[in-house]
Amino acid sequence: MSEARRYQQLRAHLSYLKLGDAAEALPRILDAARAENLSLTAALERLLEIEVNATEARRLTSRLRFACLPEPWTMADFDFAAQPGVDAKLINDLASLRFLDDAANVLFVGPPGVGKTMLAVALARGAVEAGHRVYFTTAADLAARCHKAALEGRWHTCMRFFAGPKLLVIDELGYLPLPGDGASALFQVINQRYLKSSTILTTNVGIADWATAFGDATVAAAMLDRLLHRATVVGIDGPSYRLRNHQATAETMRKAVAAHVS
Ligand code: ADP
Ligand code: MG
Repeated sequence: MSEARRYQQLRAHLSYLKLGDAAEALPRILDAARAENLSLTAALERLLEIEVNATEARRLTSRLRFACLPEPWTMADFDFAAQPGVDAKLINDLASLRFLDDAANVLFVGPPGVGKTMLAVALARGAVEAGHRVYFTTAADLAARCHKAALEGRWHTCMRFFAGPKLLVIDELGYLPLPGDGASALFQVINQRYLKSSTILTTNVGIADWATAFGDATVAAAMLDRLLHRATVVGIDGPSYRLRNHQATAETMRKAVAAHVS
C-alpha cells in the first residue's frame, strides 16, 4: 500500500470511529513527528490527547447546559470579607466536594441577600467541573414540575429525573406555601435521594420554623430527618449583600441631612 493511500486510510479510520478532532489534527501531528523525530508512542499519545481534550470540553459544556445554573458564579467570586457571618474554612472544606462521596447534604439557612444562592451555585459549578452530573432548580419549580407530571401521568419519570443527578440544588425553600402538593413532592425527592446522592438546599426558614412553614409538621419532621442525618448546616446571619449599597447611600444621606440641620 502506498504511503499516501495509507494516510487516507488512517484518516478514514479516525473519521469512522468519530474521532473527528484527531482526524483533523493528523497532518499536523505527522509533520511534528517528522520534524521533532518523535517516537511512534509519543506521536500517537499526542494525537489521542487532542481527541481526549476535545471530548472533555464537549462533555463539560453539555454537563453545564444540563445543570441549568442561573449564574456563572464560582467560589472565587465570593467575597468572604464582605460576609463575616460565613465560616471560610467550612466553605472551603465543602468546596473540596468530599460531601458528594458521602452523599451528604448541605443546607444554607439565612435571610435574603446573604449569599446562599451564590454559594450553592459556586459549589454546583465546582461539581460540574469535577465531572459530576448536577441539576439546579428552585423549590417552587420542583413543586410545579412534579404537580404537572402527576397530572400528565409522568410521576415516576419525574421522580427518576430528580433522583438522577449526583448533586441536586433546591434553591429558595421559603415561607410561601409550595404550589399543589409541593411539600409532599419535595419530601419524596429528598427521601429517594437520601443516603444515595447529595442535595444542597437554601432557605430563609430557620429549621425550628419548618413545621409552620410547611403547614404539615409530620412531613416537615420527616424531611428534616432525612436532610439532616448527614448534613452540613451553614447558617448565614450577616448583612445583606444586596442591601449593602442601599445602606451606604442611606447612611451618606443621613449624614448630609444631619450636617445641614446642625
Ligand atoms: P441569597 O440567596 O442569600 O438571597 P444571593 O446569593 O442571591 O443571596 O446574593 C445576592 C446578591 O449579592 C448576588 O448578586 C450575589 O452575587 C451577591 N453576593 C452576596 N454575598 C456575596 C459575597 N459574599 N461576595 C460577593 N457577592 C455576594
Ligand atoms: Mg437566593
